[in-house]
Amino acid sequence: MPELRKDMITGRWVIISTDRAKRPTDFVRESVEIRGTGFCPFCTGNETKTPPEVLVYGRNGGGPNSPGWKVRVVPNKFPALGIEGDLDRQGEGLYDKMNGVGAHEVIVETPDHNSTLATLTDRGVEDVLWAYRDRMLDLKNDRRFRYILIFKNHGEAAGASLEHTHSQLIALPIVPKRVREEVDNAKRYYMEKERCIFCDMIRQEVETGVRVISENEHFLAIAPYAPRFPFETWLIPKQHASAFENNQTPVYTSFAKLLRDTLQRLDVVLDRPAYNYVIHTSPIGEEINEHYHWHVEMMPKLTKVAGFEWGTGFYICPTPPEESARFLREAQVHA
Ligand SMILES: [Zn+2]
Ligand SMILES: [Zn+2]
Ligand SMILES: [Zn+2]
Repeated sequence: MPELRKDMITGRWVIISTDRAKRPTDFVRESVEIRGTGFCPFCTGNETKTPPEVLVYGRNGGGPNSPGWKVRVVPNKFPALGIEGDLDRQGEGLYDKMNGVGAHEVIVETPDHNSTLATLTDRGVEDVLWAYRDRMLDLKNDRRFRYILIFKNHGEAAGASLEHTHSQLIALPIVPKRVREEVDNAKRYYMEKERCIFCDMIRQEVETGVRVISENEHFLAIAPYAPRFPFETWLIPKQHASAFENNQTPVYTSFAKLLRDTLQRLDVVLDRPAYNYVIHTSPIGEEINEHYHWHVEMMPKLTKVAGFEWGTGFYICPTPPEESARFLREAQVHA
């Protein structure tokens, strides 16, 4: 019998098809292969082929936009939103509109074309996290922005148009609906119980253990109770923390280790899948609170979203999270 499950954080129901439970090998797709053919604007030596950098780590001398860096952040050459101008909010009859103002940046995670986030060192991954944080703190000074989303598309199937490993940041003049739903649900729960729903979830998941993938000093990786996608994985700080950008060094160190560990597990179990991840953090101006708890949602690209999902907002997940957690937990990864 399939099971309907509710995600308490988003209020979203999903269908877990327990009967035809799919194992990792049942998903037909291509592994992410780095070919390194053709011109790459993110490679060392091609620094002048991107817009001028807004942040760089690791370069000693040589001047801006020259080789010798470890992590480099540049504006997206084809931005989804434009950085100049006012929002100019308007009504158009019953419709609302505003100018497409925002920042769209690319975090180039390493100068090495053949690396992936999973094959960098822990220190290399941590540098990427610091770059996320530095850019967020800087963009938060811009009064036009209400939310900053960090996300990553890995592999063509997940929407990456360049294979050189990178993440993206978009600063938005509005709080996205997905995030608003999570924050509002968490706030409602807090008002009723005076406890953070995420902290409660962490306690319960650690106690039962069936959906735990791995953990370290500050971080936990779990398969959520009501996943939208097979092998969906959440990474979450164990101590209450409402904003990604307001943490101490040990938290980022732990996060880097667990992020890399989780990506390695996905690579082993699903044979280097394409994937997306997003960082969900508190909206700008609401960073300090007791109810929202920042986290990462990671989705390997194994299935396609089809008509039923479009029409209902329900997802059908063909692998129970207890199963995917077991596969990932038992994966042999080397640190
Ligand atoms: Zn490259
Ligand atoms: Zn919490
Ligand atoms: Zn979330």
